[in-house]
Amino acid sequence: MAEQQIDKKTTEADKKGALVTEITPQSEDFSRWYLDVVRRAELADYSPVKGFMVIRPYGYAIWELIQQGLDRRFKETGHVNAYFPLLIPQSLLMREAEHVEGFAPQVAWVTRGGDEDLEEPLIVRPTSEVIIGTMYAKWLQSWRDLPILINQWCNVVRWEKVTRPFLRTTEFLWQEGHTAHETEEEAQAETLRILGLYKDFCENDLAMPVIDGQKSESEKFAGASRTYSIEALMGDGRALQAGTSHNLGQNFAKAFEIQFQGRDKTLQHAWTTSWGVSTRLIGGAIMTHGDDSGLILPPKVAPYQVVIVPIARGNWQETVLPKAKAIQADLVQHGVRVMLDDREAYTPGWKFAEWEMRGIPLRLEIGPKDIEKSQVLLARRDTREKLPTPMDGLTSRIVSLLVEIQAGLFARAVRFRDDHTTRVSSYEEFKDAMEGRPGFVIAGWCGSAECEAQIKAETQATLRNIPFGSENRGGTCVKCGGQSIGDAWFAKAY
Ligand SMILES: [Zn+2]
Repeated sequence: MAEQQIDKKTTEADKKGALVTEITPQSEDFSRWYLDVVRRAELADYSPVKGFMVIRPYGYAIWELIQQGLDRRFKETGHVNAYFPLLIPQSLLMREAEHVEGFAPQVAWVTRGGDEDLEEPLIVRPTSEVIIGTMYAKWLQSWRDLPILINQWCNVVRWEKVTRPFLRTTEFLWQEGHTAHETEEEAQAETLRILGLYKDFCENDLAMPVIDGQKSESEKFAGASRTYSIEALMGDGRALQAGTSHNLGQNFAKAFEIQFQGRDKTLQHAWTTSWGVSTRLIGGAIMTHGDDSGLILPPKVAPYQVVIVPIARGNWQETVLPKAKAIQADLVQHGVRVMLDDREAYTPGWKFAEWEMRGIPLRLEIGPKDIEKSQVLLARRDTREKLPTPMDGLTSRIVSLLVEIQAGLFARAVRFRDDHTTRVSSYEEFKDAMEGRPGFVIAGWCGSAECEAQIKAETQATLRNIPFGSENRGGTCVKCGGQSIGDAWFAKAY
């Protein structure tokens, strides 16, 4: 272990050196910390177009894993993928009054094609309800064609004044599901099924606990009957809306004539839903798990779950490297994503700090002495534990450690969320809670938009959602003292 002792010293030296100090500590400035991590871990970069980001390969690899995890769940629940156009005629957006009002301020326009002004301006999709609704109207004939369960993976553009990589950018990647149903009950069941699917993905794959519930009238999607959301709590105590699912009722069906002949031969409007999550989830994972050394990735969405760092000493290329490659091959065969960092231009210490900063869940160190002892040293990113581990049974030990890390990160995030959730019974307590340590505040609410708006104006806290099962618990509105319709969760939010 002698060499590894030396290497550990190198790591400590590197940590204090230029490399890691480039990341601002969370306690000093969380927002700065976030931007430092995004840049230093090479997740994303600013582009020449203001408000638009470039997703770098490491960030994109996380997105691909998010896509896979969600796509599998969509398909298991009967959905299929399709693709609709980027550009939408202006007249289509105008057809659903609330929808146009909600999105008009954020729309990017195309008014010219080649050297000609367009007769009808086009908009770049901020979301695709109107173009997809138009197509459903064309495709749908009979109740036998229902339900339609289509998802699309694409980009959308919403003109933003203030942007932050992954959390709010003018263009972002997402998926948007659009479904049409025969009955109101089926549309509602679909809306909630997807919300449950999002919660399952966030908690099981991103290890990010979320509160699922219904949005208030003022926070619902433009044109929806009901909007549901999942809300997560970030490391700085601010909430992040991580996904939304909308029951659109017959609003879009009426605006776009999505009609079908019913079982009773009458012409009926379909009941539709839409739902989406975006690259914002990457921002959520960064801010849920990261620490002062950088990113911590849950194994399920880590592009590399294990990094192998061979200790280059003596005739390491004849002894250590072949063994490292054999370990890698066996791990790959068991479905583990592995990076073997055998670059000679960097010291092991430098590599330790680098991959720590980039959030790889598990590091495997192997040197000549380890080979003599037929062992390796495993280092966990989440707990920083160092575990000398026998070569014998190594792969299965690593596979089970990855499961343990995934579960450990989730448990830690749940603890953090619970420690930062306060139930209050008076407005004074509410204000104190919002001014003191940030987090979720649970309070009774009467259902009035006025109380909600006053709370927001006075404390900056927004009503995140009303979790399921908290309705009709009795009690009074924290603002006006009137009868409460349920426990609402408030927070300052991204
Ligand atoms: Zn009230």
